[in-house]
Amino acid sequence: MGEKRTAAAGLVSLAAVFALAGVFFPPPPGAAAPLPPVPGQLAAEAPDGQGGPLPSGQTLRLLLPDGQVALVGLEDYVYGVVCAEMPASFEPAALEAQAVAARTYALRRADSGVHSPDAQVCADPACCQAYTAQDPESWGDQGAVYAAKLRAAVADTAGEVLTQDGALIDAVFHASSAGATTPAQAVWGGAEPYLVSVSTPETVETVPDLRQERAFSDQELEALLGSAEIGAVTYGDWGGVSTVQVGGRALSGQEARQKLGLRSARFTVERRGEVTVFTTLGYGHGVGMSQRGADLMARAGADYREILAHYYPGTTLERR
Ligand SMILES: [Zn+2]
Repeated sequence: MGEKRTAAAGLVSLAAVFALAGVFFPPPPGAAAPLPPVPGQLAAEAPDGQGGPLPSGQTLRLLLPDGQVALVGLEDYVYGVVCAEMPASFEPAALEAQAVAARTYALRRADSGVHSPDAQVCADPACCQAYTAQDPESWGDQGAVYAAKLRAAVADTAGEVLTQDGALIDAVFHASSAGATTPAQAVWGGAEPYLVSVSTPETVETVPDLRQERAFSDQELEALLGSAEIGAVTYGDWGGVSTVQVGGRALSGQEARQKLGLRSARFTVERRGEVTVFTTLGYGHGVGMSQRGADLMARAGADYREILAHYYPGTTLERR
């Protein structure tokens, strides 16, 4: 998932914000208000995918890394994105939620004309979404099992997308957060009513690599930030860094994250002897669906509709 995209300015009217927040633990300050779960608003049941061929129909012109443009079926493309973007060991409901997010994201991206006129989406994760044409069946031991599992997640949600006021949403996602997701505004400047901060269940106990420490020498900080003088750090109500003082000027948490190559903008800073240690929680921009959180919700019994309604509050699941 690209880090450098800009969330479109919120032109949609304020929709009722609903979330499953609070089902797993109380939401942190600033998270969307916990309300009862909202049942999926899907008109009809999706076909039952059992590892068979994916539905054909709509196609996408996909720009490949070698510059070629391939015509791929929408569902085959979504399968290639789920293969590349989420571990096949994740729960089926998390993979299904990922398939819907990937499909929604791709169709909105295609509509935006970013790669027109030749292509509609590309396979570069820094621009559109990661995509692999390599079938998991080639992964060895568990390959065939994983391929069938991923194929079923795509087929079972075939054609399903998330909308708000009838328009495809900007279904961004990230690897993990801690306690709460990040509002889009904090990362890209533009707010969306469905990209607000919501609770997310990851903890250092449930996600072993959630916390990471990185030590920087003064020389490294001077090279990367222009100064080794790290001052006050302020936090947003979602728990991420709002600003950090560096050599007397304020950097946003996102700027500091990018310049230092940190895993997230949710960090603490500590001086230890000759080095300055940045300790991060979570991985990625923190906006929209947390993939680790989706997997944990699935393990706790949530289905993909509940996962999507939680991470993209106020949106509607529909078949296109
Ligand atoms: Zn692209």
